[in-house]
Amino acid sequence: MALLKETRAPEPTPAQVEAESARLADKGLAALGWRDEDLERAARLTWKINHLKKATRAIVPAHVYQRAEILLGVADFTGDSYKLAKLCAQSDAKRIVFCGVRFMAETAKVLNPDKEVLLPAPEAGCSLSESITAADVRGLRRKHPGAPVATYINTSAAVKAESDVIVTSANAPKILRKLFETNPKVIFTPDAMMGRNLAKELGRTLGSELVVWDGSCIVHENFDAASVEFYRKMYPGVKILAHFECSPALVGAVDFIGGTGDMMRWVGEHKAPSYMLITECGLGDLARTSFPEKVFVPMCRLCPYMKATDLSRVLRALERPAASQRIDVPAAVAQRARRPIERMFELAEDSSPA
Ligand code: SF4
Repeated sequence: MALLKETRAPEPTPAQVEAESARLADKGLAALGWRDEDLERAARLTWKINHLKKATRAIVPAHVYQRAEILLGVADFTGDSYKLAKLCAQSDAKRIVFCGVRFMAETAKVLNPDKEVLLPAPEAGCSLSESITAADVRGLRRKHPGAPVATYINTSAAVKAESDVIVTSANAPKILRKLFETNPKVIFTPDAMMGRNLAKELGRTLGSELVVWDGSCIVHENFDAASVEFYRKMYPGVKILAHFECSPALVGAVDFIGGTGDMMRWVGEHKAPSYMLITECGLGDLARTSFPEKVFVPMCRLCPYMKATDLSRVLRALERPAASQRIDVPAAVAQRARRPIERMFELAEDSSPA
């Protein structure tokens, strides 16, 4: 596929920088504590990025764990892996500048083979995604013949290509329930914590009924269940929400578990004196700007992979993308990876009883 030409953004005038700084402040960066000089510095970049997006028919999807200036300043849409994958597939943009990590950009490429997909931070991997290979999945199939493989979306295109269906933290229980209707045994990869949570939620025995791979997320594996009681005493009435990738002990101690989209919805639908979101810190920033009337108690960890993307790298990807920023998935792999992703879309939206 022909690559788009190098395109430089013009320099914004002082009046344009001032207007863009005010826009960023209003979008929520001022509420997050950004000072005027920081807003101005960001505005010079966001103005150019937004200008180039229009000029090159590019879109910027951003995962909710991205930096606040990306989520609020340049993203065309924000969300969890599922929402981003769906919206990228529906887009008619010529190029996708994916603010997230490599497996997400690969998913976008699999669903949009004719578009140029760029990952501003090429080294942005994921400990979960890197915990399993395509050969590992083939090994699991040999060991458990006939068992379908449900794979978390946080995996490479090569691993997806070896799987029967992809799941996210939001739809994994529903999809696995459907698989168990016709299969006595299901393989779930690669998140061990989520696998244990799923086994508990579905009432299935680990190992014999639900076979789980031993991968982990370096962000969610480190939250301590014991601290939940401490925070409940410190902040009476606090509602504590945790991501499905946290440990079963922690998940058992909180008020709600789910994916990031579910957590945001739950906060919007409930009234409480305060909320604690146990996940990556980006979700807290988004929640504070989406629900300025609500109080959020900090309890989060940064994902180094997610935070590798910044505005200057997004601009670089739009102006003169480096070879390392371009995402390519071999056609044969992309073709095989597409089917289990589409199967997820079908099963996640199927409203027949699970
Ligand atoms: S938060 Fe965890 S699962 Fe998400 S990208 Fe970072 S390491 Fe991977």
